[in-house]
Formats: sequence, structure tokens, C-alpha cells
Amino acid sequence: MNQSTLMYSGKAKSIFSTDDNNTLLMEFRDDTSAFDGLKTEALSRKGLVNNHFNAFIMQKLDDAGVKTHFIEMIDDTKSLVRHLDMIPVECVVRNIATGSICRRLGVQDGMQLETPTFEFFLKNDELHDPMINEYHIRSFNWATDEEIQVMTELTFATNSVLVPLFREANIILVDFKLEFGRYQNELLLGDEFTPDGCRLWDADTREKLDKDRYRQDLGNVVESYEIAARRLGISTI
Ligand code: ADP
Ligand code: UDP
Repeated sequence: MNQSTLMYSGKAKSIFSTDDNNTLLMEFRDDTSAFDGLKTEALSRKGLVNNHFNAFIMQKLDDAGVKTHFIEMIDDTKSLVRHLDMIPVECVVRNIATGSICRRLGVQDGMQLETPTFEFFLKNDELHDPMINEYHIRSFNWATDEEIQVMTELTFATNSVLVPLFREANIILVDFKLEFGRYQNELLLGDEFTPDGCRLWDADTREKLDKDRYRQDLGNVVESYEIAARRLGISTI
């Protein structure tokens, strides 16, 4: 596999083409952003930690039958993935209310939800990722009915796999965001699963071990990601 041209440089990752049209190289950079790119900073070692974290979670999901784009880790900051035709929609599942749902619905921060809830957002930084529903997705042809159903099922399935995995590490999986894409007539989980895109709380103290540390200027951002990684048995040294 020869790394070739940079295809896309996002807020936190870079995507390179390879000599195989069906695969891409995904580089996790140290760059960190919040508030749709308004706040940015490079945090040393974050790319390395997130690459290892993502590889571990993607493998666990694959093992549990949630098909993903992940192929293999190439080095400390890069992984080989299947080249997906991405659906421009973010799928969020929440077990506890915090973040935007509290601002939108006026519910108490930290409230345990009766059952996990699900939300779609449009992936569009300029519009600040507005919340959408499945009628919008169908009307604007962002995805088909069947794809909406599969994305919803796979996001809940991911929650069912990961809640107990994190619980064993004494961590509460509060919420997370997933992105899906098309690959040879199938829908696969794409993008990443790292503390950049989920909320992880220490089960005893509710200390935050995720990107809220960066959003809220709490400090020790990467150190906290590494605490979560170590508890899961991920080696990032
Ligand atoms: P953003 O685009 O929001 O700034 P990133 O910096 O994480 O985000 O960039 C990664 C980009 O790569 C995202 O736009 C994501 O949708 C896209 N992507 C993730 N996985 C794949 C994949 N397997 N194939 C093609 N594109 C992907
Ligand atoms: N999230 C994400 N990317 C986004 C928006 C949200 O990864 O562009 C994740 C976020 O880290 C959290 C979950 O999705 O784990 C729900 O985020 P929320 O809607 O509460 O938004 P926020 O409070 O971050 O604005």
C-alpha cells in the first residue's frame, strides 16, 4: 500500500488515497476543534491516542457484528479504512442527558434517560449541524428509507455493545455520534469512535474523560483520553 495524495483535510483527520481505489488512509492528527471549528488547538499525542482508541473500538464492534470501514492500523497515527460514500448525517444516541439536548429541551444535565434516545443531525459546520428528522433525510434524498433504518439499528446496536464494555472499565458511556457510508451495496460504520465524538464519565466521580474537557477548558484533555484508554486495556505508549 503506497500512500499517495491528500484527498481531504478535515478538522481532526486527514484522508489520503492509496493505490487501491477501495481503500483510504486515515490520519488522526493532534488538531482539536470545538463549536464547529470556532475553537481549535493542537494537543500533543491526541492523534496517536485516538488512532489506537478507534482501532480497539472498531474491532470490538466488528467482532459483535456491527460492520465497519476499519481494516488495520498502519502506524501510531494512521489506519487503513474502506473508502465509503459518506451519508452527510450524524447519528447520536444518548443514555444520559447532557450537552445540546439540555439546551434544546430544558432538561436537567446528568439526567438518566428512561430508554436511550436517538437524534439525527445534518453534517454541516456552516449551519452548525442542525437537528433533522427522517422526513428531511428522505425529502432531500440524503439517504433512503432502508438506509435510515439500518443507520438507526446499527447505532443502537453500537450502544448495546459499548455500554457494557465501558461499564467494565468503570466508565459511563453518556452519548456518542456515528457516521455511516455506502460500500458495495452495504452500509458500514465510518469515521471514528474516540473520546472526540462521545462522552465518557468516570462511573464513581462523573469526571469527564472526553472532549468536553477541551470544550469547557477543564485541562488534561489527552491525559483523560489516555485514562479511558488504559482502563479499556488499550496500550498507547
Ligand atoms: P470534519 O470533516 O468534520 O472536519 P474530520 O477531520 O474527522 O471531520 O475528517 C474526516 C472526514 O472523513 C469526515 O468528513 C468524514 O465524514 C470522512 N470519512 C470518514 N470515514 C470515511 C471513509 N471510510 N470514507 C470516506 N470518507 C470518510
Ligand atoms: N458530537 C460530535 N460531533 C458533532 C456534534 C456532536 O462528535 O459535530 C458528539 C458529541 O461529542 C457528543 C454527542 O455527539 O458525544 C452529542 O453532542 P451534542 O448534541 O450534545 O452537542 P454539543 O453539546 O457537543 O454541542
